[in-house]
Amino acid sequence: MNILTFDIEEWFHILDNESTKTINEWKNYDVRIHQNMERIFNILERTKTKATFFCLGWIGETYPEIIKEISNRGYEVGSHTRMHQLIYEQTPAEFEKDLEFSIKTLENITGQKVKYFRAPGFSIREENKWAFEILVKHGIEIDASVFPAKRAHGGLPSYGKAEPSLLRYNGITLKEFPINFKSYLGKSIVFSGGGYFRLFPYSIIKNWTSESEYLMSYLHPRDFDFKQPMIKELPLSRKFKSYVGLKGSEKKLVRWLKDFEFTDIGTATKQIDWNNIPIVDI
Ligand SMILES: [Zn+2]
Repeated sequence: MNILTFDIEEWFHILDNESTKTINEWKNYDVRIHQNMERIFNILERTKTKATFFCLGWIGETYPEIIKEISNRGYEVGSHTRMHQLIYEQTPAEFEKDLEFSIKTLENITGQKVKYFRAPGFSIREENKWAFEILVKHGIEIDASVFPAKRAHGGLPSYGKAEPSLLRYNGITLKEFPINFKSYLGKSIVFSGGGYFRLFPYSIIKNWTSESEYLMSYLHPRDFDFKQPMIKELPLSRKFKSYVGLKGSEKKLVRWLKDFEFTDIGTATKQIDWNNIPIVDI
């Protein structure tokens, strides 16, 4: 099962960096989301692929036409929070307010209930598992925020399952679609999105995809925008990670979607026998 998802944010929504942290900084940057969304819509149309879009509430407030277009084209809309902050840096009250606002904004545009969620930077860790309770309180049924390995921003290595599962915490239950990864040279490589998807040659991505029974992708509009400006303040290693492989990534995605069958979360949810999958108490 291969699931195609996009996190819908601008090219400058880069985490853990002072010059891209809040709306005050975002004002300084060019608007590139419309052309980047056109590119994604074209790819999906050409390859006849369904996808789930985790959208920032801020995108909905600023460019409602983008969310409307996603929904009109028949794709699923989930929440990626309102203001793209690391959840482990927020208080429960701050997170709840942000989440609620994002859900309302998206629902008002599409007229459909928001049931899906992904945390910015997979930023639900051991110390902020309370976020799952808040998700359920606000009608989220399916989550894709678990990164079951160590990483820079987030990561919940104790989760222990990189496959669809039922997440249980403090009396709540969520259907969970964690990110999957490949163990390679002692590292957990998430090759189905972000920097590694752009860095590795397609032959490797293809091999690893064939070997994966379950694959959860996470792509962004900026992953295909080879004309995006460089954010000067980023450290060199992060510049590399943010800009490597941008030129070939569109072609790579098209090949990937032609070689393998991908679907959206809603379709995947229907294919899974939820009475017969791992239950993870966290
Ligand atoms: Zn994001």
